[in-house]
Formats: sequence, structure tokens, C-alpha cells
Amino acid sequence: MSNGTPLPTHKDKPLFTPGPLTTSLPVKLAMLHDAGSWHWEFNAKVLAIRDKLLALAGVSRAGGFDSILLQGSGTFGVESVFQSCVPGNGKVAVLSNGAYGERMVLMLQRARIDHVVLRTAENIPNDPAALDALLAADPAVTHVAAVHCETTTGIINPIEALGRVARTHRRTYIVDAMSSFGAYPIDFAAGAIDYLISSANKCIEGVPGFCFVICRRAVLDATAGWARSLSLDLLDQLKGFEKNGQFRYTPPTHSVLAFERALVELDMEGGIAGRAARYQDNHRTLVAAMKRIGLLGYLPDGVQGHIITSFIYPRHPKFDWTEFYRRVAEKGFLLYPGKISQADTFRVGNIGRLFPSDMKAVVNAIAEALQEMGVTSTE
Ligand SMILES: *Cc1c(COP(=O)(O)O)cnc(C)c1O
Repeated sequence: MSNGTPLPTHKDKPLFTPGPLTTSLPVKLAMLHDAGSWHWEFNAKVLAIRDKLLALAGVSRAGGFDSILLQGSGTFGVESVFQSCVPGNGKVAVLSNGAYGERMVLMLQRARIDHVVLRTAENIPNDPAALDALLAADPAVTHVAAVHCETTTGIINPIEALGRVARTHRRTYIVDAMSSFGAYPIDFAAGAIDYLISSANKCIEGVPGFCFVICRRAVLDATAGWARSLSLDLLDQLKGFEKNGQFRYTPPTHSVLAFERALVELDMEGGIAGRAARYQDNHRTLVAAMKRIGLLGYLPDGVQGHIITSFIYPRHPKFDWTEFYRRVAEKGFLLYPGKISQADTFRVGNIGRLFPSDMKAVVNAIAEALQEMGVTSTE
């Protein structure tokens, strides 16, 4: 066994991934403390974080919303909503065009919750008209669930249009905004969103350890007694915070401290608009540089978001993903494999503490790796 990871330098190998991602040095340093989970100092930070998340979402307690932190990665947050906010006789309509939509389907299968799936191809956004027809035809559907940025490809789904359809049919609306919250403006009122889930280690640029749910309080209150799980009981978790300011079970103290700092840095960057501008810059820089070396994006421009970008494998007999990944990693850059079932792709994340200069640098490394492999022309 080695002595573990060396002490932090100011920068590790940058992660071109959708999370966990490259964080700032101050975010990492914020974790060099031991916080008492019962102590008022820590609990005041938790409350301040919950308040800040509501402000970022453009909603308030007075306006009928609340925010809940929950231990675990983002998946735990999505599962907590299904496990505790869908009644025994409920039925969920899932819009799916990628792995995260399909993960929702798996959660519903495990929980034995009735569901129906509206699929589009991985390069086609969810279809609000198809949802409208489905809800008109199937009164048993109680909930609609969609993914905002389907990180499988980086496609952006029309969550506000879907929400308007759900509201017209008076169904509860759940949005997985894991990889978009903090870097895309999301209008809760226009989208009629009842539950929105995101996590600490995506666009807020914190470290893994917890997820959060922003929800309409009256909708959550109506779920009392429905939970199929104890640790994922969302209403119970909120009541715990209200009772004594604490997580019900051991909180991820260090990642809460890191998140507090990450929220300060989000403000310093100009909030959601400022962060979106940097990620857009990253995405544009990346796509232009990749185009110059002959690598093309998988998605059509109109539906590709600025979170993560999918590229089609070079069409060349000497191209091999594993070898390519290893060579780029040796040059100091960590790429992300593709998750698409319908095409051979790899992904480059634009999020985290990355700047256009990092995007240029990773493309230079990619070009060198391809040249070394003899993948000289991508024709
Ligand atoms: C990252 C992500 C999740 C959650 O994944 P975890 O690995 O559990 O954090 C869910 N949905 C989307 C769209 C994501 O990008």
C-alpha cells in the first residue's frame, strides 16, 4: 500500500468529467476542519446553505418552497423523491433520452411503483406534445419525471414546456437538474416544478457527499406516511432540520464545509449567469479546437448544452478508446468515456474549476495522443 495521496498541490490533473470535478484550492482547504454535527455552529451553516439554495432557485419559504439536504450522491436524491413522495397507488411518467432517465426507470422498478416511459432517441429532446397526449389518455399517471441536462450526451431537455403540460393536467412534476442547477437559470414558476434534485459536486463546484431537493412545501407535506424507506424519507429529513437543525443521521460534515465555500465562489463569479458564461466559453473553445483537429460533436448544435460535450470517435482503424484515454491521462488530463448506446462517443466536461485555457490544453493533448497512435486523419 502506498502512503496515500500526496498533500494538495494547487492543481491536480484537471477532470473533464461531469462530477466529481475539479474544485478550487479554497474549496479543498475548507475541509481541513472537524465540525460537530450537533453543534450550533455547524447547524447554522446548514441552514444558511438551505437558504442560499432557495435564493439561487429564485424561490422562498414565504413563497411556499423549501430545500432539503440529504446524504448520498445525486442518485440518492432522485430515489428519495420516488421512494417517499409517490403514493402506493401512484404512477410515474418518465421522459427518457439517456442513462439518467433509464436510471429513474430502474428506481421505479425496484420500488415496484407503476410507471410508463416516453422515450426519444439520445440526440432528440423530450417531446412535450407526446407527454400531453399520454397524460390526456392515462388518468392513472400521478407524477411526471424528467432530466434537464441528460449528462449521457449533454442534451438539454425542455423542462419548462414539459412542466406546463404537467400543470395543465394537474400532475406532480419532478426534475432531475443534477448537472444543470447552478449553471442554467431554471424558472420554478414557469416550469411548475414541484421537486428539483441536484447535488453538491456538479455546477456548484463542491465535493461529493450530499444531494439536495428544492420542493413545493404543500406538495411535500401531503406525502406524510407514503415513504417506503427510512433513510430516504424526504419529509422526515426536512422535519429533522426543522426540529433541531440537524441531519437525521451522520452528516457529510467536510463536504458541507466545502459547499459553503463553493457557494461563496459562485457569488464571486456573478452567480448563475456568471458561471453559465464561463461554461459557455469553455464549451465554445472546446468545440472550435476539436473541429480544427477533425473531431466532431455528436449532438446537433441547437440541443447541445454547455455542461458536457459528446464527440464521435475518430473513424480510423488505429483508434482505440482505452489506449487513447491512457495517453491523454499521461499528459495530465482526465477525459470521460461515452455512455451512449447508439453511437461510439467520448465526453469532455466543461464544468468545474476549468477555464478556456484548460480546454485548449486538453485538445492539444488529444491531438498529440492521436498523432502518437497514428490516427493522423479522421476522414
Ligand atoms: C450526476 C447525475 C446524477 C447522479 O449521479 P450520482 O453519480 O449519483 O451523483 C443524476 N442525474 C444526472 C442527470 C446526473 O448528471
